[in-house]
Amino acid sequence: MSTEALRIVWIYPDLLSTYGDRGNMLILARRAADRGIPVETYEVRSDQPMPHTADIYLIGGGEDGPQALAAQRLITDGGLHQAVAQGAAVLAICAGYQLFGHSFYAKGAKCAGLGLLDITSDRGETRAVGELRGDIDPRLGLPPLTGFENHGGRTHLGASAAPLARVTAGIGNDGQTEGAWAGKILGTYSHGPALARNPALADLLLRWATGADRLAPLDDTWADRLRGERLAAPTPA
Ligand code: GLN
Repeated sequence: MSTEALRIVWIYPDLLSTYGDRGNMLILARRAADRGIPVETYEVRSDQPMPHTADIYLIGGGEDGPQALAAQRLITDGGLHQAVAQGAAVLAICAGYQLFGHSFYAKGAKCAGLGLLDITSDRGETRAVGELRGDIDPRLGLPPLTGFENHGGRTHLGASAAPLARVTAGIGNDGQTEGAWAGKILGTYSHGPALARNPALADLLLRWATGADRLAPLDDTWADRLRGERLAAPTPA
C-alpha cells in the first residue's frame, strides 16, 4: 500500500455485498479524486489477511450466515482492530454495522461482535423494510439522511456511541434513532447506495480520513434533488 494515496479498503465483498455496497467505495474514490486527492482502493476477501494501514474501511450488508462468518474472521484476523486503534475511518452498513458492536443475532444465535462500537443488536419482532429517513446529529452538520433499510435486528446504543440520526421515517435502530457514530466510526442501517444518496456522509469520511476541515464543494444537484423528493414524500405507514 502506498503512503501518499488515500487507501480505501472494502471488507469482504465475497460475504457482505448484498446491496450494491461497492457503490460506496466508488463514490468515495470519485469524490476524493475530484478534489485531486490520490486514491487507492482494495477489495479484501474473507480468505485474505486484513491490512491495518488503510485510511478508510467499508463493510456492507448481508444475510445472517455471511454476517456471522465475517465477524468470526475479523475477530481472528485482528487487522481491523489495529486499523481502528490507529485512527482509521469506517463506514459500516447494516450487517456490518451490527457486527461492529458487542454482540448481534444471526440465524437465531447470539454472536460475538468486534466490540469496536458501543452497541448491541438483538432480534426484532418484525423485519424493518423500506424507506428510512432521519435528522443527523447536529454536531456532524449534515443534511437529513434518506435511504432504504432491510433488517431483522434492532440495535441499542451504549454510553460511548451517539445516534447518527433521529428517525423521521422507518425504524433504524429501534424506531427512535438510526445508526451510530463514535470517533471516526460511522454505522448506519441505510443500505448499499447510502453514499450515493447521501454524499455529505462520504465527505464526512473523507474529512475524517484526511484531517481536512473542509473539502471543495462538488455538484450534488442530483443527490440533493432526490433527497428533496424523498423528504417531501408521504411518510410510509
Ligand atoms: N442479518 C442482519 C439482520 O437481518 C443484517 C441484514 C442486512 O444487512 N440487511 O438484521
